[in-house]
Amino acid sequence: MGESTPMHIEDVDFADAEHHQVVIAGAGPAGLTAALYTARAKLAPVVYRGPQPGGQLFTTTDVENYPGFPEGVLGPDLMTMFEEQASRFGADLKYGTVTMLDLARRPFRLLVDERTPVTTETLIISAGASARYLGLENEGRLLGRGVSSCATCDGAFFPDVEVAVVGGGDSAMEEALFLTRFASHVYVIHRRDELRASKIMQDRALAHEKIEVLWDTVVEDVLGEEEVEGALIRNVRTGETSQLAVKGFFLAIGHTPNTEVFQGWLEMDELGYIRTAADSTRTNIPGVFASGDAQDHVYRQAVTAAGTGCMAAIDAERWLAEHEEPGSDASHPEPEVTESALSEAATLDAVDQAG
Ligand code: NAP
Repeated sequence: MGESTPMHIEDVDFADAEHHQVVIAGAGPAGLTAALYTARAKLAPVVYRGPQPGGQLFTTTDVENYPGFPEGVLGPDLMTMFEEQASRFGADLKYGTVTMLDLARRPFRLLVDERTPVTTETLIISAGASARYLGLENEGRLLGRGVSSCATCDGAFFPDVEVAVVGGGDSAMEEALFLTRFASHVYVIHRRDELRASKIMQDRALAHEKIEVLWDTVVEDVLGEEEVEGALIRNVRTGETSQLAVKGFFLAIGHTPNTEVFQGWLEMDELGYIRTAADSTRTNIPGVFASGDAQDHVYRQAVTAAGTGCMAAIDAERWLAEHEEPGSDASHPEPEVTESALSEAATLDAVDQAG
């Protein structure tokens, strides 16, 4: 293979590819828990950490709802502990992102960072989710120049100035509260007259003297030439538009699952979350398992991600034990991504297991 980036997986030479029993795509709570369990099962998992190693917790401050830490724990510290625990049992944590794949037959063929070919008997997807943006005209241009989706990362750049946070969920409350450490005033811009955030987070944010919620308000655009100088906002009830003189503009409007690379192979819902069979992490392709925020749009907690990571590891381990001839060309038909494919795969697997 030359220097150029291959356009198709067929253009990649897999003759000398590294071969593994378990490859895990993503290294947040789900991926690292899957790594811990499969490592302890002596399956020598390889984890490709993806573009955001540590997942979303790596950009969080205090985590108060992860069990076992009565005083709370910092997100990056927690993820470092996850990594150390998985590594201790032999999980191989590598930098790299799965950028292309072929799941038509086993061993599955993956291309990492558009250049490293890898084959694997099972694949655990724990690629997480990424912050959403509003799609405003100047949002992209001013990204990193006042526009941010991570208050924890960028909050300190805004001492004694006014900033805005868009959103009404727990993330928005958390970001707003964090920003009060630096900013002189924090506007929370929310499109409705009721917050989505949990009661405890709402109470904390609403009680803070620096935080002001702008209800029923949407953002028309971010303003500024070189850096953010304001936001153009509109009250959806009155239709009135006005300018808010903020220097920082933080998005906290939810996340999109990082599943694009798996599209066409795996059955997903309309938002791109990977569908798994009931009470399991099995996808429509036998040997491919999904866990964490790439698969769960309901709970989306670190502890539930870790839980499904554990489930994926156990599912993969059992599946490997039940499917003989690892490394052989045990092909299965080209998957058809239809509504029925998933239940069919689940049924076949269940029959397999029962037999
Ligand atoms: P979320 O709960 O989905 O909230 C997203 C917020 O953004 C909603 O208020 C939504 O408005 C708003 N929004 C979405 N699209 C928008 C758009 N195009 N324009 C304007 N506003 C928009 O997401 P999240 O806050 O990131 O939380 C995700 C999950 O993580 C939740 O389960 C949450 O409990 C959890 N979490 C927990 C903590 C904690 O406990 N410390 C911290 C962070 C996150 P609507 O309300 O009108 O839909």
